Amino acid sequence: MSSDSISIQPISSSTKSVAKKKVHIETWGCQMNVADSERMLSLLEANNYELTNSGPDNADLILLNTCHIREKARHKVLSRLGVLDQLKAQKPGLKIAVTGCVAQADGKKLVELAPQIDVLIGPGKIDELPRLLRERDITGESAVATGFDRHNEDIHQKVDDHQTLGDEPMIHIPSVTGKYEVNRFVNIIQGCNNFCTFCVVPFTRGREISRSMTEILQEVRYMVSQGAKEITLLGQNVNSYGLDLIGCDDVPEDGGPFVELLKAVAETPGVERLRFTTSNPHDFTKPLADLFASHPKLGLYMHLPVQAGHDRTLERMKRKVTIDQYMQRIEWLRASAPNIAISTDLIVGFPGETEEEFEATLRLLEKVRYSFVYAFKYSSRKGTAAARFLDQVSEDEKDRRLAKLNELQDKITLEHVLAAIGSVKDVLFIYNSKKDPRIWVGKTLDYRTVRVCSEANLAGKTLPVKLTSGNKIALIGELVQ
Ligand code: SF4
Repeated sequence: MSSDSISIQPISSSTKSVAKKKVHIETWGCQMNVADSERMLSLLEANNYELTNSGPDNADLILLNTCHIREKARHKVLSRLGVLDQLKAQKPGLKIAVTGCVAQADGKKLVELAPQIDVLIGPGKIDELPRLLRERDITGESAVATGFDRHNEDIHQKVDDHQTLGDEPMIHIPSVTGKYEVNRFVNIIQGCNNFCTFCVVPFTRGREISRSMTEILQEVRYMVSQGAKEITLLGQNVNSYGLDLIGCDDVPEDGGPFVELLKAVAETPGVERLRFTTSNPHDFTKPLADLFASHPKLGLYMHLPVQAGHDRTLERMKRKVTIDQYMQRIEWLRASAPNIAISTDLIVGFPGETEEEFEATLRLLEKVRYSFVYAFKYSSRKGTAAARFLDQVSEDEKDRRLAKLNELQDKITLEHVLAAIGSVKDVLFIYNSKKDPRIWVGKTLDYRTVRVCSEANLAGKTLPVKLTSGNKIALIGELVQ
């Protein structure tokens, strides 16, 4: 059943005394999915649902927000749907919604394989969730919406119970954990125009569509009003934020709308720390690097994915930068913030990657001395250009390369850890351990995880911590009195 066939209005305010329905949300994958889940929960709350944290058994609606970045994504979703189908058999009226990248990639095919899906929505259509749930009720058929339209309508305008916060409509973006959260994520741009040859994002998330700066700032102000101290702006390619809004293909020399947005968010009262991810080096400008000097809220950390250390591999990946250009960006960052911690993503065993090219990646690690590296074996993704390359690297060889790369990076990471021990760093505390609530976990400005033991509630506090020991995962410290 097409999503366009029936027009359904949101539930009117006169129905609000009806007992609320429960929604259970499972979010897989990246932080962008977490932010999407929060936006869908916001819409559901305005339509008489509330989040349940007591598992799927008590839910009226189960929402699976899926991820397509790894192989066998569809298999994982189908296996979860198989389990939930048994629950559905015991509980007539239970609805199952599948959203996210698997929903976009597989669309109606997934509904044919799993008819227990009541609603299926791609990431570009999440604001249609309440309408599709009603459509499902009326037609009795699965409701499907995929694709990517530019929509100028603010998602919050679909919420029919505006209150006011000062002189602006009060929005509500709940946390999917249902808890107070110190660090919140804000999606600023969907999709990607780059078509790196290994990546499915342009197919599952579509082309770049930026949200308006007004809408983003409104959401940031709301999150701060709810206690957030750290805001992370998200996009598959955040650096090209706003190019679609100003009609440009390339980032202007002054850094363009993204630099403007970062300044505006950093100047928002109550934002203590500001981060952003993910950056493509091709769109990373010097004015953006310069912000790390002029805007200390950006902290001392930058994730700049390089993916490979040799120009030939980068060209075959269609990354649109050379290693020299990438190193120039590292120099800009280090000139702006000499102690900045830098991390990266790397793929080993990309089709056609020779031993010499792999060795160049190891040399890059030695040269940049990243704080952390997220390294993966290349995995072929259906529909991408690299999946059709004939010179695939064997799994054994990928394993060998990954182990060698990790061994080198572990050594470098440990050197950074040892250098930090004995120093005092400001730590923003985010949560405490479920097993032992006295163990508090926070982040330094250079994005290291720090654990301390304290009887006091430290959530949301930024406190000086003396670092006493640590490993490649986390540092241990003591609060400085
Ligand atoms: S820039 Fe990032 S999201 Fe876009 S195609 Fe390349 S790897 Fe994928």
